[in-house]
Amino acid sequence: MEHAVRYALERRQFGRPLAEFGATEAKVAEMVRRIDGARWLAHEAALALEAVGRGEAHREGPAGATARAALAKLAASEAATWVADEAVQIFGGYGYMRHYPVERLLRDAKGTEIYEGTNEIMRHVIAREVFRAAEG
Ligand SMILES: Cc1cc2nc3c(=O)[nH]c(=O)nc-3n(C[C@H](O)[C@H](O)[C@H](O)COP(=O)(O)OP(=O)(O)OC[C@H]3O[C@@H](n4cnc5c(N)ncnc54)[C@H](O)[C@@H]3O)c2cc1C
Repeated sequence: MEHAVRYALERRQFGRPLAEFGATEAKVAEMVRRIDGARWLAHEAALALEAVGRGEAHREGPAGATARAALAKLAASEAATWVADEAVQIFGGYGYMRHYPVERLLRDAKGTEIYEGTNEIMRHVIAREVFRAAEG
């Protein structure tokens, strides 16, 4: 996002910076929403794990540390891929080139949806905790 914001302020088309186009504003606002949402979930997962460590909470259930960790990983990896993809788009043709950093960031971000448990498995873990809790 930082690369894309800097570029949008520098790059001019049709007599003004990309940052002044509503389409660019919408991308940046959505980037912030997804990044901050993922950060909150990551903090929440850390708090849930600490509470388990102190013996004050359980791992199980939708509010438990297992589900919160899976939610954080899912949200953060998908936010990273989405934001990097939109950053490439903001860079236009340059975004596709290795000379600029954003194409590398997109490839790196995609990996986070696969390793340390694929996001399909994260969804499975979250749903399993929800169904287990509902069954009692
Ligand atoms: C950049 C990178 C770094 C890595 N680093 C390491 C590392 O350091 N150490 C290590 O051990 N591994 C590492 N891996 C491997 C990674 O853990 C595996 O790629 C990952 O677990 C997926 O396994 P797989 O590639 O065999 O895919 P598969 O298990 O064949 O999965 C293929 C697709 O099917 C889906 N799928 C599979 N089973 C299910 C199911 N039961 N329900 C629903 N969907 C399912 C998957 O989600 C995926 O979309 C790394 C991978 C990458 C990309």
